[in-house]
Amino acid sequence: MSEQIQDSTRELVDVEHLAKSFGEHEVLTDVSFTIERGGVTTIIGPSGSGKTTLLRSLNALEIADTGVVRIGDVTVDFEQVKPDRHGHLKKSVRQQLARLRAQSGMVFQSHNLFPHKTVVQNLIEGPVVVQRVPVSEARSEATRLLEQVGLAEHADKYPYQLSGGQQQRVGIARALALKPSLVLFDEPTSALDPELVGDVLAVIKDLAAAGWTMAIVTHEVRFAQQVSSQVLFIDGGLIVERGGPEVIAEPQQERTRKFLKRIL
Ligand code: ADP
Repeated sequence: MSEQIQDSTRELVDVEHLAKSFGEHEVLTDVSFTIERGGVTTIIGPSGSGKTTLLRSLNALEIADTGVVRIGDVTVDFEQVKPDRHGHLKKSVRQQLARLRAQSGMVFQSHNLFPHKTVVQNLIEGPVVVQRVPVSEARSEATRLLEQVGLAEHADKYPYQLSGGQQQRVGIARALALKPSLVLFDEPTSALDPELVGDVLAVIKDLAAAGWTMAIVTHEVRFAQQVSSQVLFIDGGLIVERGGPEVIAEPQQERTRKFLKRIL
C-alpha cells in the first residue's frame, strides 16, 4: 500500500485504481483521486460515464472489483472483498465494509424520508437507533441542523406537508445528523422543479462554508464551478480531467471541452 494511503492528515479520502464492471460492461476502468478535508469535490461528466457508480463505491453501496478506498482511518482493499463459493463475505470483511459505510452520509436524488414520521423524527432515527445517542441530545442536534438548512419552523410537519426542495433539505439534514466525515450527494437537484433547485444549492454552499467535506455528482455545472475546490470530469469510466474550478472555466482536454459545450 502506498505512503499516500497511510497519510491521513490532509487528505480525508484516497481512491486508488478503482475498477468496476457490471457483467461485460466495464463502468469504472482505473480511477484514482484524493479529497482534501473540508473540500467540495464535484463529479461531472456525460450520462452513463460512471459518476454514480463511483460515488456509490465510496460508501460500498457498490462493491468495486479492484482498487482501494480509504476514508479517514478506514481502508478497504476491494481485492480482499471477494465472496466465498457460497456467495458469503467473511465476517471481518463485512465489518470493515460497515466501518467504511459509517464514514459517509448519502443524500439521494429523491430524499427517501420516512413518510409516517415528522421531520424531527426522521432526523433523530439514525442517531438514536444506529448510534445509540440519547433522544434529548439527538433532538437538540436535529434542531440545530434544521436551523442550518432553514427549516426550523417545520420540525413537526410530515414530509408530505413540505415542498420537494424542503424535503430534499430534510434529506440533507438527516445525512448530517449521523455526523459523517464525508457527505455524498447523488444529483441532489435532478428530481426537483427548476424553481426549487436554488434553495438546495444554497444549502450545499452553506455547508461548504461550514467546512463539511462533500463529494457531489451533479449536472449543475455552473454551481459546480462556484462551489468546488476540486472538479473531476469523468468519461468512459476514467477521470479525463481533474483540477480546480478551472476545469469548467478553462478545460484543457478536448473531451471536457466537447461535454461542456454541449451542456452550457
Ligand atoms: P452516470 O452516473 O455517469 O450516469 P452510472 O454510474 O449511473 O453513470 O452508470 C454507468 C453505467 O453503468 C451505465 O451504463 C449504467 O447502465 C450501468 N449500470 C449502473 N448500475 C448498474 C447495475 N446495477 N447493473 C448493471 N448496469 C449498471
